[in-house]
Amino acid sequence: MRSNIVVAIDGYSSCGKSTLAKALAKSLNFIYVDSGAMYRAVTLYFLRNHTDISNEQAVAAALDTIELNFNARDYESHITLNGEEVSEEIRGMLVSDAVSEVSANKWVRHAMVKQQQRMGQSKNLVMDGRDIGTTVFPDAQVKFFMTADPKIRAERRYRELAAKPGNLVTLEEVFENLAHRDYADTTRKESPLIRADDAIVLDNTDMTQQEQLDFAAGHVKPFLKQA
Ligand code: C5P
Repeated sequence: MRSNIVVAIDGYSSCGKSTLAKALAKSLNFIYVDSGAMYRAVTLYFLRNHTDISNEQAVAAALDTIELNFNARDYESHITLNGEEVSEEIRGMLVSDAVSEVSANKWVRHAMVKQQQRMGQSKNLVMDGRDIGTTVFPDAQVKFFMTADPKIRAERRYRELAAKPGNLVTLEEVFENLAHRDYADTTRKESPLIRADDAIVLDNTDMTQQEQLDFAAGHVKPFLKQA
């Protein structure tokens, strides 16, 4: 039985997992870890260094030189790749289009899962991703599986991207990217995205952020008393 509280939030791309995870972590004063940012940062490194994903040795060598760090208390999923702040760059379409292939790689997954498990050894934390409740922390006290209408998800993500200067991406491209990532994430061999048996489904198509936070916090509260 773990003595720290772990909240796992998994689900489809652009379901608002990180928005909820950040708000929940902040309201509970837990650490927040955006595991997707880790896969994105590795993808950025592979793209920059032309790492051949099919070459096991090249992947292992690259993983050895990658150091990822979070500021887990700023609730903004700021991440550094070998000391460089890459939080903005990893959200672009270049990384979004390549990340599913990189995250399906066995060696990449092993390295990331190991690091994630280390982060959850002793402190209370909220982690969001695709395999947190199934593979990273199967013993998490509270698990959510988030979903929402794919069209709504694409519109939300598009609005976020369109708000950034110089962004030329179309709604159709965003929709295609989400559909592609959902398919790749749910059908891959290595820890595919599936709902853990004990995960609480949260469909936020028609929910406000406050309603989601209240719902999630309500499920964590009983564990706070025991901790
Ligand atoms: O959460 P986000 O959309 O930023 O994640 C980017 C990608 O990283 C996902 O599409 C998925 O391929 C991968 N990922 C994963 N396992 C996680 C988190 C993210 O495979 N725990």
